[in-house]
Amino acid sequence: MTTLCIVGGSLAGLSTARALRNQGYDGRLVLVGEEHHRPYDRPPLSKAFLAGKLDVADLSLECEDEDLGLDWRLGVRAIGLDSTSRAVLLDSGESVHADGLVIATGSTARTLAAGHGLDGLHVLRTLDDALSLRDDLTGRPSLVVVGGGFIGSEIASTARALGLEVTLVSGGREPLRAQLGSFASVVSDLHADHGVRVISDAMVNGFTGAGRVDGVVLDDGRRLQADRVVLGIGAVPNTDFLLGSDVEVDDGVVCGMNGSTSVPGVVAVGDCAAWFDPVVGHYSRVEHWTGARERAAIAATTLLSGGTAPLPRLRAPYFWSDLYDVRLQFAGHPELADSVTLESGSIDDRSFLAVYRREGVAVAALAMNHTKPFTAIRRTLVSGHEAATRSMQGASA
Ligand code: FAD
Ligand code: NAP
Repeated sequence: MTTLCIVGGSLAGLSTARALRNQGYDGRLVLVGEEHHRPYDRPPLSKAFLAGKLDVADLSLECEDEDLGLDWRLGVRAIGLDSTSRAVLLDSGESVHADGLVIATGSTARTLAAGHGLDGLHVLRTLDDALSLRDDLTGRPSLVVVGGGFIGSEIASTARALGLEVTLVSGGREPLRAQLGSFASVVSDLHADHGVRVISDAMVNGFTGAGRVDGVVLDDGRRLQADRVVLGIGAVPNTDFLLGSDVEVDDGVVCGMNGSTSVPGVVAVGDCAAWFDPVVGHYSRVEHWTGARERAAIAATTLLSGGTAPLPRLRAPYFWSDLYDVRLQFAGHPELADSVTLESGSIDDRSFLAVYRREGVAVAALAMNHTKPFTAIRRTLVSGHEAATRSMQGASA
């Protein structure tokens, strides 16, 4: 291999570039990134950066003295792929011909067609989104946050700390219910204690205002007044440029448990990639920071070895979230559990560790302000590698 191309200049793309160099690749490495910015970290965008506690420079994902010898193509979008010749077509009119390709294009924030073009209506995915939102919150306007997922809960928490009046509209029974199950009530209580008005089981399907948004319309006809609105209603994987190529796409790029795709010499990693998870037996996108970073090394190995490297050690999916004065951490596969127990601490104190087990074996863990015991149990969670090895042993027995 003399030329490799990475499409996507963020966490997964940069981490794969580092891994390729660490694993000995010293050929040409082209990195194509649609954003003009050098790689930056997204988690602070809804937290300390939005709160004004960090500057743009603090977000850099690159180390000061780092030189990966990349051929940077920033502000350039990949618009097509010829999977036979592995040529990536760019919106600049150029093509990059590569021996191997890494797809690390992440996701884009979902929007609603109804609000298109209204001032004061925001999403939060990119640094530019965050700069625009931060600027628009300075006069402490009233804010409606749409969506009870991570973005919604984190923005509500930050906006309250900034002194804004906040209403959170959650599509489900309560914020983070899909992610935390019955433990989501702790998050609802946190929002209530901090003065966030939560409206549950309600979908926003329209907006009011001419030129500038001044309210949202719920599916039951209610209208909520708002000076500003932020949508946190999910993210869509960026796979458009693969249309017409032989790379299989479903909800994201369909990948084996080593990042391999349906096309030899093409791997995918990060939020855009749905890797096979042998623990649960299906393909899923792990839309969290740690997955994008850890799996980059596996994708690099797959690319450099032509997919012949031994099965990787896939760690259990993991995320954290910071809300108010609480750090939430979650790892594993709660859907496999037949029991959940509170191992230490107390829910009332908002400091606890809960462990999900199947037939006595830990399959997932949730912690609130309980980092040390959480880290210990996380290490024991069944990994994709072990599950795959077990299922292969089962098949050959
Ligand atoms: P992305 O970060 O989405 O980067 C993909 C890059 O590819 C982008 O720069 C995009 O412009 C570029 N691109 C897309 N299409 C093309 C194309 N056709 N051509 C060229 N370039 C292209 N996770 C946690 O675990 N904990 C947190 O607390 C947390 N907080 C978050 C807060 C926010 C506001 C957001 C948005 C995410 C947060 N996450 C968090 C999730 C985490 O940031 C993501 O999982 C991670 O950024 C995924 O990295 P990625 O490189 O796969 O994708
Ligand atoms: P998300 O976690 O998928 O949550 C979206 C929420 O929006 C869901 O609860 C959904 O409700 C609700 N919703 C959808 N349409 C709606 C509508 N019209 N009106 C009201 N509610 C609606 O997505 P997100 O919070 O937007 O986050 C985007 C991405 O960033 C995800 O990939 C996420 O993992 C990532 N992220 C991660 C973190 C973290 O790990 N800490 C932090 C921020 C962002 P239903 O469930 O009822 O459909």
